[in-house]
Amino acid sequence: MLTGQEHLQLLEEPKNIVITTHHKPDGDALGSSLGLYHWLKAKGHRVEVVLSSDFPTFLDWMPGRDEVIIYPTAVEKSEKLLAQADIVFCLDYSALSRTNILEPLIRRSSGQKWMIDHHLDPEDFATLSYWNADAAATAQLIYEFISSVCNDQSAITAEMATCLYAGIMTDTGSFRFRSTTAAVHHIIAALIDAGARNWEIHEQIYNSSTENRLKFLGYCLLNCLEVIPEYNTAVFAITKEDLEKFQVSTGDTEGLVNYALSVKGIRLAALFIDRTELIKLSLRSIGDIPCNEICKKYFNGGGHLNASGGSASEELSQVVNRFKSILPEYKEILTK
Ligand code: 5GP
Ligand code: MN
Repeated sequence: MLTGQEHLQLLEEPKNIVITTHHKPDGDALGSSLGLYHWLKAKGHRVEVVLSSDFPTFLDWMPGRDEVIIYPTAVEKSEKLLAQADIVFCLDYSALSRTNILEPLIRRSSGQKWMIDHHLDPEDFATLSYWNADAAATAQLIYEFISSVCNDQSAITAEMATCLYAGIMTDTGSFRFRSTTAAVHHIIAALIDAGARNWEIHEQIYNSSTENRLKFLGYCLLNCLEVIPEYNTAVFAITKEDLEKFQVSTGDTEGLVNYALSVKGIRLAALFIDRTELIKLSLRSIGDIPCNEICKKYFNGGGHLNASGGSASEELSQVVNRFKSILPEYKEILTK
C-alpha cells in the first residue's frame, strides 16, 4: 500500500533526510536502514541514519555501519538533523514509541514522515506509507520501494544488496518462517545477482558469537528453561544477575527464545529478561497461536502473529507467573 504518490516527487531534488528505526535495532532494522541509506546517498541526498541505541556486535560489519549516528553519543547533532530534516524515514516500526528516546524528536520534526514497515496496527503518524504486514521484512519493502515504486532496480549496488539480504535473512529466520514466499526467494536471487555474497553474510551473522555469548547460551539452557508440557509451552526467565555474570551485551540474547520453541511439541515459547527498569518479554509461536494478541492484551506490546514482544513492570517471577496464569485461556489452540 502506498498513499500519496505525489510526495515521491520530493526525491527528485536533493533533500535533507534522516532515517530512523526501532530501539535496539535487529538485522532487519539496521539492514533496511543502511540499504536505503546507500541508495538515497547515491541519488545525491544528504542522508543520515540516527539510532536511539547501539546495535548488536553480530551486525558490526554491515556496509555503512560506521556512518550511523547513535543519538545518546551525539545528542546535539541528532537533534539538529531531525529538526532540519525534509523527510524522516520511519523504518521497521509502526508505532513511534518503538523509537524510544527518539520519539519526541521525530514528533517535533516538521519533516514529512515516510513509513516503510511490516508491523500490524500502524499508528497514524505517517505522511506517506509503504506498509504491508504480509511482507517478510522491511528490507523486502525497501527492495520493492526502490525497484518497483521508484523504478530504479538497476541502481541497487552490492553494498545495498548486502544490507537488504541481511535484513530479509534475519527476519525470516534464514528463510524458514511462513513469511518466506516464492516472491521472497525471487528478491533474494536478485540481491545475490546484485552482488550480495550470501555465504559471507551468513558467516558474519551466525558465526560471530563471543565465547561469553556461547557460555551464556549453555547456562540459560541448563538453568533458565522451564518446559510446561500440559500447555506445550516453554519459558526462559533470565535475571539481572545472569546478565551481569556473562557480561551480556546488546544482541547476545537474540535468537535465544527460538531454542525454547525447538523443543519437540512446543507451540509457544517465551523469553523474559530482567532489564532492571522493566521486564522485557519475547514470544514466539507455531501456527495460529496469537503471540501479538497475548502481548497486546497482557504485556503492553504487540508484533506479529508468531513473533511479538512487550514489557511489564512487576518482579521477574511475578511476570512469569502472570504469563503462566494466562495459558488456560489458550489451552485449546495450544494443545490441538
Ligand atoms: P523481539 O522478541 O525480537 O524483541 O520482537 C519480535 C517482534 O515483536 C518485533 O518484530 C516487534 O514486532 C514486536 N515487538 C517487540 N517488542 C515490542 C514492544 O514492546 N511493543 C510492540 N508493539 N511490539 C514489540
Ligand atoms: Mn522487521
